[in-house]
Amino acid sequence: MSKKILAIALAALIGAGVATVQGFISKPIPQLNIYKVKDDLYNIEGDGGNVSVFVTNEGVILVDDKYEQDHDAILAQIRTVTNQPVKYVINTHYHADHSSGNARFLPMAEVISTANARTNILEHKQPNAVGVAPARIVFTDETAVFLGGKEVRARYFGRGHTNGDAIIYFPAQRTIHTGDLMADTTPLVDYGGGGSIVEWTKTLDAAMKLDFDTVIPGHGPVTDKAALLTYRNNVEKLRNCVYGLIRQGKSQEDIRDILMADTAGKPTA
Ligand SMILES: [Zn+2]
Repeated sequence: MSKKILAIALAALIGAGVATVQGFISKPIPQLNIYKVKDDLYNIEGDGGNVSVFVTNEGVILVDDKYEQDHDAILAQIRTVTNQPVKYVINTHYHADHSSGNARFLPMAEVISTANARTNILEHKQPNAVGVAPARIVFTDETAVFLGGKEVRARYFGRGHTNGDAIIYFPAQRTIHTGDLMADTTPLVDYGGGGSIVEWTKTLDAAMKLDFDTVIPGHGPVTDKAALLTYRNNVEKLRNCVYGLIRQGKSQEDIRDILMADTAGKPTA
């Protein structure tokens, strides 16, 4: 096993713990920056997860809203590209670094998520997350928002990072926001939140059938479909690596010890 794969596996095994760390509110608040992705579509990077900004002449649709502390900075970044108000926020999943802004957006916008993401917030599946407001509107398999003659679709293809990860699809822009089904370089499985390393590849295989060329990951720079396929294959390698250790009769604790000894360091994400 390569050290890279081991690092990925280690990150997966402790995924729930990492998700907890992601939920920790840090100070001071990092600077946010907005970048154009396609016509009418922007991405706000910095602190928490990536926030997509979809501009129409009847309002703005956001994908994710970072931490509550980022609310004013998110609005300031949006103001640099449009004066339209935020009308909808679609959460990719329930983690605090993607959904903690809900509480501040709910008075002005409709917040939408998968039913499972809402349940995970209500059941406090992320231990250290505080004050995360659940969506008012939920869906199970698919929904869409039509605003200003433009369309955004939200799809649930199955378990992966959690049991409620939505893929947000901008068909005219041929772009998807994956949430943490693709995040940085290492897959993190939130087992407490219903995640599954077994189902993750199937979920991404279904998403890959959409017609898109550009990918906004949950964290990290905007990338392309080929990079998502590479990420999907890394998830498969990780799964096979863990399966191999299980076949050798190792317990999850043994596997964690083996991976930590071999990697001799911390995971990269
Ligand atoms: Zn997450």
